[in-house]
Amino acid sequence: MGFNYFMPTKLIVGKDCISENSQLLKTYGNNALIVTGKSSAKINGAEKDVINALEKENIAYTIFNEITENPDVETIVKAGNIGRELNIDFIIGIGGGSPIDASKAIGILIKNINANENDFYSNPNLKSIPIIAIPTTGGTGSEATPYAILTLHSKRTKASIMPQIFPEIGFLDYKYMKSLPSHVMSNTAVDALTHLIESYTCVKSNFMSDEFVLSGLKLFAESMESLKNKKYSDEVLEKMLLASTLAGFAISQTKTSLPHALGYMLTYDKGLAHGQANACLMKGYLELIGEENNKVKNILKELGLNSIQELDLFLQEVLDLSLVLSEEEINFYTDKIMETPAKLEVVSMNVTRENIYNIYKSVNKK
Ligand code: NAP
Ligand code: FE
Repeated sequence: MGFNYFMPTKLIVGKDCISENSQLLKTYGNNALIVTGKSSAKINGAEKDVINALEKENIAYTIFNEITENPDVETIVKAGNIGRELNIDFIIGIGGGSPIDASKAIGILIKNINANENDFYSNPNLKSIPIIAIPTTGGTGSEATPYAILTLHSKRTKASIMPQIFPEIGFLDYKYMKSLPSHVMSNTAVDALTHLIESYTCVKSNFMSDEFVLSGLKLFAESMESLKNKKYSDEVLEKMLLASTLAGFAISQTKTSLPHALGYMLTYDKGLAHGQANACLMKGYLELIGEENNKVKNILKELGLNSIQELDLFLQEVLDLSLVLSEEEINFYTDKIMETPAKLEVVSMNVTRENIYNIYKSVNKK
C-alpha cells in the first residue's frame, strides 16, 4: 500500500468555538477582511461572533459582503483590490462554499501584488495570505480542501483554480446551519454525499481517503431520515457538518469524479444548485461504475440501501431533480466534455463518448 497524505488545516469544532478561541486569530495579524455572501452570515450569527472575537483581540476589520453563489472572477478582483489597498493580513470567509472559495482566490490576489485573474488558471504555485474558514452549510467541505471553484463566463462553466489553498483554520459550529432554508440544506448535504461517493470511486482513492469516506457515509446515513422529513435536531446538524468536512478531507486527497465535472455546465446553463447538478448525474455515474463493483456495494450498504435505483429515489425525494435535457442538449454537453479528455481520467476505466452520453441521458428521470 502506498499513498501521500497532506492536510494542514487546523480544525476547531464545537458550539461557540469562535468566541472560545478568539486568541488564535491574533496569530494571523492585525487587519482582517471578512468575506461573506449578501445576508446569511448576518442572519445566522456567524458574522457577529467573528466581529466580537476580532474586537476582543483588537484586530481591525473590513467586511466585503458581495460574494454571490457560484462566485465569479470579477467580484473576486474587486475584493482583491480592496484587500491590497487596505494591506489586509488575513481573510475570514464565512458562508457556504461560495464565500470560502472566493476567500482563497482573493487571498492569492492580496498576497501576490502583481498577479491578476489570468494567474488563477496558469500559475499553480501562487500562495495566499492566511484564510480562516467558517462553513455555514454542511456541503462543500471547502474549509478542509485546497480547491476554489469559480465561474468562468468566457467558458460558460465553472472550474477550480490551479493554486492549492488550504485554510489555516476551519471553525465548525453547527449552530449557524439552523437558519438554512430547506432546499439549501438538502442541496448542500447532497453535495457532501456526492463528494464521498466520487472520492471513493475515483482513480486516486487510497486507504486514507477511503477511511474518511466510510466514516462520512456513516454520519450521512444517520441524517437521511431528517433530510426526508426536513426536521433537523442539533445532533443531526453536527453530524451533517462533520460528514461534509470528512468529505472535504477525502476529496482533498483524491479530487472529485465525473458527476462534478459533468455538473458544472448544468449549473451554469440550467441554474441548478451545485448539489442538485451532481445528484441528477449520480445514477448514471454509478451505473457506469457498476452495481456489482465492491465500492458501489459498500456505499449502498453504508447508506442502508439495496440498489442504485433506491439511492436515486432517495435523491429524488430530498431534491428537485425534475430537469429534462433534450437530445440536442445531451449531445452538446457530451461533446463539450469530450473536448477535455483529462476530465475522463478520473475513473479507472476507459470512458467513451457513449458512457458520457448515457450519464447525461440518465438526468431525464422519466
Ligand atoms: P453557497 O453558494 O455558498 O450559498 C448558497 C446559499 O445559501 C446562498 O444564498 C447563501 O446566502 C445561503 N446560505 C449559506 N449559509 C446559510 C445559512 N447558514 N443560513 C441561511 N442561508 C445560508 O452554497 P454552498 O453549496 O455551500 O457552496 C457552493 C459553492 O461551493 C459552489 O460554487 C461549488 O462549486 C463550491 N464547492 C467548493 C468545493 C471546494 O472543495 N472548495 C467543493 C464543492 C463545492 P448568502 O449569499 O447570503 O451567504
Ligand atoms: Fe461539490
